[in-house]
This record gives sequence, structure tokens and C-alpha cells, in this order.
Amino acid sequence: MDMNLKFVNDKRIERTIEKLKENNMNAEFVKTKEELLNKINGMLQQDMRVTVGGSMTLFQCGIIELLRNSSANFLDRYTDGLSSEEIRRIYFEAFNSDIYFTSSNAITEEGYLFNVDGRGNRVAAITYGPKKVVVIVGANKIVRDVDEAIMRNREVSGPANAKRLNRKTPCTVTGRCHECSSDDRICCSYVLTKYQLEKDRINVFIMDENLGY
Ligand code: SF4
Repeated sequence: MDMNLKFVNDKRIERTIEKLKENNMNAEFVKTKEELLNKINGMLQQDMRVTVGGSMTLFQCGIIELLRNSSANFLDRYTDGLSSEEIRRIYFEAFNSDIYFTSSNAITEEGYLFNVDGRGNRVAAITYGPKKVVVIVGANKIVRDVDEAIMRNREVSGPANAKRLNRKTPCTVTGRCHECSSDDRICCSYVLTKYQLEKDRINVFIMDENLGY
């Protein structure tokens, strides 16, 4: 990357990390996937209950593979052949997990996480339940403020995720949000995570990469 652009980018990440910390979330800049995997590995313990929210980022970073090969008790919602009832049980058991891994649809320079969910299980677990929440985001998810975060969902993450999930929604045809009333809608609960009462329950790792949607 051009050094001047890198400077601007790095400062943006630094600002965001400082604001996340002011909001009682632990936040770190991670330079490589290897560094990230080492950090995550260091958090895992044998038989610790861990689970994940739906996320492309977690696959791209190798987190899903790491959890599958770890000695932790990984409640893997992506296991082939799970019935809808078994998946639903994993969603519920996530509230009682030691670590919940997820990404975020956007992260604002004010130090807020912004997430949009269909069923709401992911935003619920980010908000309450798991002892720790680990949020892994690429710098592409950083936006200036909540308005930009909402816009990002309408123009990028909403349509891209609907496409990934093969939803029959207008955004998978046009590539932008139509605020649909479709049975296949994936945007139902819009949650802004601001100042936290439980310091460092939420841990954010920011990577200077394009990750997820
Ligand atoms: S069209 Fe519907 S599913 Fe697609 S981004 Fe908008 S609200 Fe979400």
C-alpha cells in the first residue's frame, strides 16, 4: 500500500481502537492472520465452551478451522447435516459459552459496534450471555459514524450476505437494499453496542485487511 495512504489508514484504526477502549471494550490491532491465530489459541482452554456467530470473516481468518482442531468444546453450527432443531439448540447454548466469536457488520470511529441480524441470535449473544465476546473485523468495516454504518448495511453487508445465503430478496437482484418485506429478509434487529458495563467482556481485533462483508 502507498505509504501516505497507509498512514491515513493506520491513524483511522488507532482512533477507532482508542474509542473502543473508552467504551470499555478491549481493542487491538493485529497485523497478520498468524498473529491473530496465536492470540486466539492463547485464549482457548481444554473443554472450554466456545461458539460462533454467522460470519465470513471467521472462515477467512482460519478461526473456524482453529476451533475445530482445538481441545475446546466447540459447538459448531456449521457441522454438516445438523437439523434446524440442533442448530437452534446451539444458538441457545451460545448464551452459556465461555467465548463467543463473531465479526461485526460495521465499527464506527466513535468506538461503537453496529450489527444487523435476521433471527437476532448473534446480536443477542454479543449483548448478553457469553462470558467473553471476541469480535474480529477487517479495517474495511470501519465507518465514520452510525449513519455510515446503517448505509454500509444497506449498500454492502445486507445485499452481500443475502446473496451468500441465497435469499429471495430484492437486494440479491439489484445489489442494494429495498427495505423489503420479504419472508427471506435477513435484516430484522439493528443493534448498536456502545459503552459496556462489564469492562473487557468484548474484545475487538482489527486487521488491516478486507474481510467479510
Ligand atoms: S432488501 Fe431486505 S434483505 Fe436485502 S438488505 Fe434490504 S432489508 Fe436486508
